[in-house]
Amino acid sequence: MTEKFDVIVIGAGPGGYVAAIRAAQLGLNTACIDMNTGKDGKAALGGTCLNVGCIPSKALLDSSKHYHHVKNDFATHGINVTDVSIDIDTMIARKDAVVSKLTGGVAQLFKANKIKQYHGRGRLLANRQVEFTAHTSSEKTVLEAENIILAAGSVPITIPNVEYDNEYIIDNEGALQLTEVPPRLGVIGAGVIGLELGSVWQRLGSKVTLLEALPSLLPTADQDISKQAGRAFKKQGLDIRLDTLVKSASITGDTIKVSLEDKNGESEISFDRLLVAVGRKPNTEGLLADDSGVELNKRGQIEVNHQSQTKLEGVWAVGDCVRGPMLAHKASEEGIAVAELIAGKAAHIHFDTVPWVIYTDPEIAWVGKTEQQLKEQGVSYHVGSFPFAATGRGLAMGNADGMVKMLADADTDEILGVHIIGPGASELIAECVVTMEFHGASEDLARIIHAHPTLSEAIHEAALHVDKRAIHRGN
Ligand code: FAD
Ligand code: AMP
Repeated sequence: MTEKFDVIVIGAGPGGYVAAIRAAQLGLNTACIDMNTGKDGKAALGGTCLNVGCIPSKALLDSSKHYHHVKNDFATHGINVTDVSIDIDTMIARKDAVVSKLTGGVAQLFKANKIKQYHGRGRLLANRQVEFTAHTSSEKTVLEAENIILAAGSVPITIPNVEYDNEYIIDNEGALQLTEVPPRLGVIGAGVIGLELGSVWQRLGSKVTLLEALPSLLPTADQDISKQAGRAFKKQGLDIRLDTLVKSASITGDTIKVSLEDKNGESEISFDRLLVAVGRKPNTEGLLADDSGVELNKRGQIEVNHQSQTKLEGVWAVGDCVRGPMLAHKASEEGIAVAELIAGKAAHIHFDTVPWVIYTDPEIAWVGKTEQQLKEQGVSYHVGSFPFAATGRGLAMGNADGMVKMLADADTDEILGVHIIGPGASELIAECVVTMEFHGASEDLARIIHAHPTLSEAIHEAALHVDKRAIHRGN
């Protein structure tokens, strides 16, 4: 007999597992199918984010930051440490332990919420049926549900003539798993993933070269921020080559030869490892039966409306496999909204207030519009900014590079965007997101008491500076 559910979710990344938990909380009989398998051969929930994305990359960013600080920054605090070394195996094992704790935590939440977990592949059939193929066998069963949520996530993009061998030419998964520090690490793509993972290995001792086809770094960030970031990365020793198109890569012995084209013509460069970080694409391979009725758009994303509904009644899609930024928190919020809509509640997502964070050093975070977007759209705005170098806390910490930049509507003073580069940017941005959600003005932030000494004072002062009345800088 066909097993029936109120909701079946395909994919247990931050989009799918969060949707499943919210659906179960709302009293819906929920199943979740996920094919990911951990190192122990068992199901590992949490998708890209927990297993090979957000979490392991942050674990390695933190480990490598500690190492870098001990070697380079402790002496200024009067702390002298000799014989500093890094044990890569221990660092990777710690990262794996963090991942296991979190993936295990999701499994416990599934149990606690009575979500039926299926380990294997799901495929959407017609008439709200799902074919399930268990991880351990080729036997197929058919499940049925009133509502199906597709949350299949994304996979790395490949480029022509650069083939992964997963030892020398690697993707994010490989770069999170290296067993030694490569003397020369090449990175194709200076996007978020390339910069974060490049930073990890650079801090640990690799000479890192990023090859980026575009003429500017982080083109979607506010240009004042991306320029500061470029200067900071250069100072750290990251060799970022813009306007440089990778044409092919080949492995000879232990060396990877990369052919590239830049303003000087064609040339070749050699590396010991090559990380390909040229972006990600929706993971829809094998997800949809020919007659499922679900449509993909030109970019290979599952076509959905603003409420994450496909054209088929009762079939929804969220996260990296649909339009919008490929970010874990965006996926989760869509998952929650869909579960609530299924349960008959009202739900909506404000794509305008999705925060973006890049966990390099300095960290970069923003929400809302960039200055270049406001110019393009002909919006009149005021700008306020404040450097961390003028904050007592930043100086006391010994980490005061960067700034907060705030953009507010010239007529209404409503905040339209906030851009931060500097210490704690990933946490500081939350205050700005909240303010923007409430359609707050720079005046609101300027009148809110911020504790002293904290980094958040830079936000307070940037808000004051919108009206040219910052206290600790010239206006
Ligand atoms: P995924 O997390 O990709 O999960 C999809 C799941 O579905 C996977 O487990 C997959 O195996 C499973 N699946 C797919 N098809 C099927 C099928 N047919 N049957 C069964 N199971 C299936 N985002 C941030 O917000 N912050 C960060 O710091 C950040 N860092 C990142 C670092 C790296 C190195 C990478 C690669 C990504 C990072 N991201 C980050 C992006 C983030 O990981 C994704 O946006 C997020 O994981 C998307 O969630 P999702 O649920 O849509 O899909
Ligand atoms: P993101 O989409 O943020 O992950 O960044 C991926 C980056 O890779 C983008 O900035 C692309 O311009 C860059 N890129 C894509 N293909 C190539 C290529 N063949 N050579 C160099 N850079 C590339």
